[in-house]
Amino acid sequence: MGHLGHIIRKTMLYQTKVEYGDWAMNHVQGCSHGCQYPCYAFLMARRFGRVKTHEEWIQPYIVDNTLDLLRRELPKHKNEIERIQLCFTTDPFMVDYPEVSKMSIDAIKLINEYGIPCVVLTKGVLPTELVELSGINQYGITLVSLDEAFREEMEPGAAPLINRLAALKVLSDAGLKTWVSIEPYPTPNVHMQELQPILDAISFTNRIVFGRAHYDKRTNAYKDLDMFYYSAVEQVRAFCKSNAIECHIKKGTVD
Ligand code: SF4
Repeated sequence: MGHLGHIIRKTMLYQTKVEYGDWAMNHVQGCSHGCQYPCYAFLMARRFGRVKTHEEWIQPYIVDNTLDLLRRELPKHKNEIERIQLCFTTDPFMVDYPEVSKMSIDAIKLINEYGIPCVVLTKGVLPTELVELSGINQYGITLVSLDEAFREEMEPGAAPLINRLAALKVLSDAGLKTWVSIEPYPTPNVHMQELQPILDAISFTNRIVFGRAHYDKRTNAYKDLDMFYYSAVEQVRAFCKSNAIECHIKKGTVD
């Protein structure tokens, strides 16, 4: 089990400025998954002085008063909120942090009591007990490769891909809505691989979100960048169409 710090916050729910404008909550500061893409949340935390180094970032601090804040904020905002994302700047099912997972589950239950669905995304393992929660939620994993060596390099503290996928399949088989984020998808100069096996491994899911890499200098230096993402997007769209999967291509992936 990893060492978990504790903090108190003044607010929890906020409306994000991303393209779908959802509400989100981040009940942990930092993330032990320590992604090397690099992690946008880490870059922002460093820019705004919340952490100084990557070593500080991978030491997570749980927000102890999360449920109290939700009990105060949900009645106030319930009519404006369509759904709540867990999480934007951390991971709700951080590997080896059972206290974080428990709080995520308690938060989802509380949010669902207001009839509001949660959209969950993790690089950890989705617990099977999610099957017992309301069916209005969507559970997702990030999967940009099937190569475990690449995962170890880029997502060193996250769950092995096979475990991540198996947990998602369990929830899907139980009739829950699932989704997969293929973002940031690596260019061949970062990692040489075929996209089709990744798509085939997730043919059971309800929604695929595909997006390019943004913050890796090597990606921007790739000579066939536009053509590479254009043909990958075509492939994702065709796959989704033939498997009746909802498809969302992130803005800026192709011009
Ligand atoms: S799992 Fe998400 S929040 Fe955590 S380090 Fe990786 S990219 Fe950042």
